[in-house]
Amino acid sequence: MVKLMDNSGSRVSIHFEDTSIAFKHKSDRDLLLSYLIFLLTKHPFLVKFLSRAAKLSLTMGFPVKPLIKATVFRQFCGGENRREYQKVVDQLGKAGIGAILDYSVEGGGDETGFEETKNAILQTIQQAGLDENIPCACMKMTGIVAESLLEKMTAGEAMSKKDESAWKRLKQHLADICNLAGESATPIYIDAEESWIQGVVDDLTEEMMLNFNQKRAIVFTTLQMYRTDRVDYFKRLIQNARQENFMLGVKIVRGAYMEQERERARQRGYPSPIHPDKPATDRAFDEILYLFMDHMDVVEICVGTHNENSCRLLTDLMTERGIPSDHPHICFSQLYGMSDHISYKLADAGYNVTKYLPFGPVASTLPYLARRAEENTAIAGQMSKELEIIVRERQRRRAAV
Ligand SMILES: Cc1cc2nc3c(=O)[nH]c(=O)nc-3n(C[C@H](O)[C@H](O)[C@H](O)COP(=O)(O)OP(=O)(O)OC[C@H]3O[C@@H](n4cnc5c(N)ncnc54)[C@H](O)[C@@H]3O)c2cc1C
Repeated sequence: MVKLMDNSGSRVSIHFEDTSIAFKHKSDRDLLLSYLIFLLTKHPFLVKFLSRAAKLSLTMGFPVKPLIKATVFRQFCGGENRREYQKVVDQLGKAGIGAILDYSVEGGGDETGFEETKNAILQTIQQAGLDENIPCACMKMTGIVAESLLEKMTAGEAMSKKDESAWKRLKQHLADICNLAGESATPIYIDAEESWIQGVVDDLTEEMMLNFNQKRAIVFTTLQMYRTDRVDYFKRLIQNARQENFMLGVKIVRGAYMEQERERARQRGYPSPIHPDKPATDRAFDEILYLFMDHMDVVEICVGTHNENSCRLLTDLMTERGIPSDHPHICFSQLYGMSDHISYKLADAGYNVTKYLPFGPVASTLPYLARRAEENTAIAGQMSKELEIIVRERQRRRAAV
């Protein structure tokens, strides 16, 4: 474990400059591929065009799958099946990074699709129970129920007979998933989605936390800190956890649906639920970290971010308060294919680190890949940071020859 000390013996903040740690596992060829992919995401129009072209080509049966699989799929996904992604799981494990298997097939929107997704999630939990390199699991509520029902419930609308049976099935799916997670002591992160469906996702997740988080956090909710109401919600959750005697599991992220949120608020004439600017989102994110520090006895946290400052703030707070880097209540998480300079550095310094590892058939993960690329081009600076780091590592390697 790296000791973060300066010459005088006092602790110094972690830094993420050392690209040799981040890319140790990548060959020159792999690095070149990453470079070309991130170079492409600098051009949003091209990304949109290529995403659509790829989808159309696959639908029309053109033989583009090998090309997609060898490029963007390889960058952001673990593989199509267990045999393929297990190699990535093992490779991450060697660096002390846990994998969170993310079944990326977007449900067909019907009961068969929801059942298939539930079974796939159950399998990821089973595998986590057997493999120490897979410390937890994750799911999206929209994988196991229609978004329209979640929207109806969040808006407080009455349910039809058909809705009632779909709701019953959802509750059963969720109970099955959380039961297995509890039995195999595998935490499950329930991802956060758009605000117009999130209300009922929050309610269901709270119910599951109350049922399953007795000794430790098995069920984790997700807080999107771009939402103006999330700091207060976090405070309420802490209060509930204390009153009702359960461990609060929280994944914090900034949030992935900013444009859609703002656009819908504008179209429907209600105030945007999103902070007015990036610094406000950043402040809310920081505030959660400070609050967490004061309530670590009842909260377990997963910090899902590619932001160096957020990771540094948390490691600094841990140092200040004498909290060991591998404290079981704290985990850092990034998406596979992104911000390796953060994941590998943190893991090397002894922190708990995981990466979301999407998997599934190439054609089915295409919407995920397109969103990944499109979302990322929309994030000012993010891709240029990825690119900058890859460029730095390529230069370092050339200089070392
Ligand atoms: C492990 C992991 C799990 C994730 N799970 C989820 C999830 O369950 N649900 C979900 O929605 N997202 C999820 N995300 C995505 C996440 O919400 C962010 O979109 C992404 O990580 C970028 O934020 P950042 O903190 O990494 O980086 P940064 O580059 O520091 O932040 C970019 C983010 O800041 C916010 N932002 C940017 N500009 C503005 C602005 N003008 N005004 C207000 N806010 C602004 C947006 O949220 C934007 O995505 C996850 C990410 C990771 C790494």
